[in-house]
Amino acid sequence: MPSTPNGDVTHPFCSAPEPGEALAVAPGVLWIRLSLPFQLDHINLWALDGGEAGWTLVDTGLGDRRTRESWERLLTTVLADKPVRRVVVTHFHPDHIGAADWLVRRTGAEFAASLTEWLIAQMLAAGPSPAFDAAAERFYRRSGLDADPLAAVLGRQGAYARGVPGVPAVLTRLRAGDRLAVGSTRWTVIGGGGHTAEPVSLHDEAGGLLISGDQILPRISPNISVWPTEPDADPLADYLASLEAWSALPADTLVLPSHGLPFRGLHARAAELAGHHRARLEEILEFCGAPRTAAAVTRRLFDRPLDPHQMVFAIGEAIAHLNHLIRRGDLAREAGPDGIDLYRRR
Ligand SMILES: [Zn+2]
Repeated sequence: MPSTPNGDVTHPFCSAPEPGEALAVAPGVLWIRLSLPFQLDHINLWALDGGEAGWTLVDTGLGDRRTRESWERLLTTVLADKPVRRVVVTHFHPDHIGAADWLVRRTGAEFAASLTEWLIAQMLAAGPSPAFDAAAERFYRRSGLDADPLAAVLGRQGAYARGVPGVPAVLTRLRAGDRLAVGSTRWTVIGGGGHTAEPVSLHDEAGGLLISGDQILPRISPNISVWPTEPDADPLADYLASLEAWSALPADTLVLPSHGLPFRGLHARAAELAGHHRARLEEILEFCGAPRTAAAVTRRLFDRPLDPHQMVFAIGEAIAHLNHLIRRGDLAREAGPDGIDLYRRR
């Protein structure tokens, strides 16, 4: 990992808690880890001790039986001393919101998230509609995917509803700048964008802690994707702005991410991620010296076999970079005679 003028990324905890156990990472902050049945095989969750006010849980895991069993164990062991009063979800992705509906019903807790993340979860959990299917087919066809990967990607529609069997019907809305009291700690809600539209992170200024969700991760670059429902979106602009905004927080903040290990080096990691995207933008611009399809750009960026799940994120990420270059005025997009979009450097 290259060092930067901002210092290095360091990990004060060298190992994660075992599934079903909890590790205190700061006074009143427990780190819980649950398994995921993906290549990304775990998620970190956080239990904040509010004393008499009970527990606040941050993120919930998938909406599957294995996750519910893990929570049952936790609720009757490490979390048994007080009730769960609040469940916060950082964003709408299934590994974060999947078990929220069940947890809220199981514990009687309130559910807190941003309005946009809650609405998108409600929309996607309702399952695809014919209009959505048509938009998806048009979007992935325009990208130039061959018949087999196209069929595989389209066959994945509806995967969200399988990972998120329900979404809480009642919301406590979180907005950027809100203060969330947990015992004597005041967590500030920090907004952002790019990975999803309106994620929340939680910052405890006095304790020097940041619960970052997927907005900044220590090892992997959070997926920044364009989706069929908003084909001309520029989420990369939102993400790059979010990365810059971390400079307002102290450099030695202990970051508690949803995947990987807690780390220090917020500014260094933000600079690395911004550098990663800038390098990709340059590479794509160079590659589009000749007209290219989004599928060709995807193969160029992800030089390995991709299963349908990975392909959806890979092509979404390629189009995010292409749309950003169009928005910047560096790239032109035009439909070829077969209806497939071609991208060319201006
Ligand atoms: Zn996510």
